[in-house]
Amino acid sequence: MENTQYPESYYAASANAVPPRPVLQDDVETDVCVIGAGYTGLSSALFLLENGFRVTVLEAAKVGFGASGRNGGQIVNSYSRDIDVIERTVGPKQAQLLGEMAFEGGRIIRERVARYNIQCDLKDGGVFAALSAKQMGHLESQKRLWERFGHTQLELMDQRRIREVVGCDQYVGGMLDMSGGHIHPLNLALGEAAAVESLGGTIYEQSPAVRIERGANPVVHTPQGKVRARFIIVAGNAYLGNLVPELAAKSMPCGTQVITTEPLGDELAKALLPQDYCVEDCNYLLDYYRLTADKRLIFGGGVVYGARDPANIEAIIRPKMLKAFPQLKGVKIDYAWTGNFLLTLSRLPQVGRLGDNIYYSQGCSGHGVTYTHLAGKVLAEALRGQAERFDAFADLPHYPFPGGQLLRTPFAALGAWYYGLRDKYGL
Ligand SMILES: Cc1cc2nc3c(=O)[nH]c(=O)nc-3n(C[C@H](O)[C@H](O)[C@H](O)COP(=O)(O)OP(=O)(O)OC[C@H]3O[C@@H](n4cnc5c(N)ncnc54)[C@H](O)[C@@H]3O)c2cc1C
Repeated sequence: MENTQYPESYYAASANAVPPRPVLQDDVETDVCVIGAGYTGLSSALFLLENGFRVTVLEAAKVGFGASGRNGGQIVNSYSRDIDVIERTVGPKQAQLLGEMAFEGGRIIRERVARYNIQCDLKDGGVFAALSAKQMGHLESQKRLWERFGHTQLELMDQRRIREVVGCDQYVGGMLDMSGGHIHPLNLALGEAAAVESLGGTIYEQSPAVRIERGANPVVHTPQGKVRARFIIVAGNAYLGNLVPELAAKSMPCGTQVITTEPLGDELAKALLPQDYCVEDCNYLLDYYRLTADKRLIFGGGVVYGARDPANIEAIIRPKMLKAFPQLKGVKIDYAWTGNFLLTLSRLPQVGRLGDNIYYSQGCSGHGVTYTHLAGKVLAEALRGQAERFDAFADLPHYPFPGGQLLRTPFAALGAWYYGLRDKYGL
């Protein structure tokens, strides 16, 4: 990893103050060594510490350096592929278990924020916005599906009703999920890291895991130290590189970009999003946006397959923002950044164990704020010997991308282009 400082994002500029964290320079011993201090790693660490494990977290850069400190901040329920697809893939019993878990991540976030008093601008309410009658039909079935799994805080909105909550005339309707919502994502990660330390966990920054010595007593090596542990949790997601080659084969890092306007002032902000809900549209390559606590609009969208950093992010995202909100024509963009998420072919998370003592969760395919919090709990349960929920994820089938490591990027881009065309022409 070349650059280990935060990108120049709105989040880094408005991050809560944190103490400097040490670089690992010793030989330490612990129960669980967690690799990566994003939500997956921090959530795992917290659940493990709450259950009496000693935990050491290794972070290659800084807490929340990856997607967890760069994302749109949208608390979205369920998975990147919904429970109906899971039902068709794995059958009703496993789907029932996964379906019951699909709304737990948002509850975990709220519970963490309350218990550890995390200051991260948490707001309730998320909107799925339909651009066509077909997408509205899909939302109607999604509501029935989610209600079947006990999730009832949902309201379908017709064209008139959605205009009350989103000041944009593109949408034919939508669905409001009051258990969705939004957060300042980096401050959530920083608050969770402080909670880890308050329970006796240790976090080393600028301390990449460069080699894992596998076996009955595994050791994780960093450039200047090593961690001996009973268990290892690999939580490096799209930033992991080739540390664990088995994991790299069935996933692909992808970039997505976000811009942030200058503060809009109360009146304009209220005209865009009167109730301060977050919004994502229902396209395959979706746009997502929300207000910040100081009334800026954060707008994200698009995907760069293979995670190259685009040269001019504003030029890519600003036209999408202006299409939704032409009234922002003269507004200045203060921040623009990119971040990587990890895509799997099925768009479902890749979870499992290597040998008896190396556990992993990754690849929630761009839809991970809630899932990663759930993953931490499920991984901690597995380490405590209760693996039923872990196995429900671990049994999801995963396949390599067509074309292998060399051709997977153009093939995936081709697939996305096809779905993009379907969105454009409402097919
Ligand atoms: C721009 C963007 C917008 C998004 N918007 C949303 C959204 O609005 N809602 C939503 O639900 N999802 C969203 N996502 C997805 C979501 O942010 C991710 O799914 C989630 O944050 C992944 O968390 P993670 O902990 O698994 O990975 P990450 O947050 O990427 O953390 C991995 C960490 O591991 C570290 N690491 C990697 N390798 C090593 C190593 N060898 N040694 C030590 N440390 C290592 C990295 O430095 C990094 O800090 C978005 C993603 C991006 C990029």
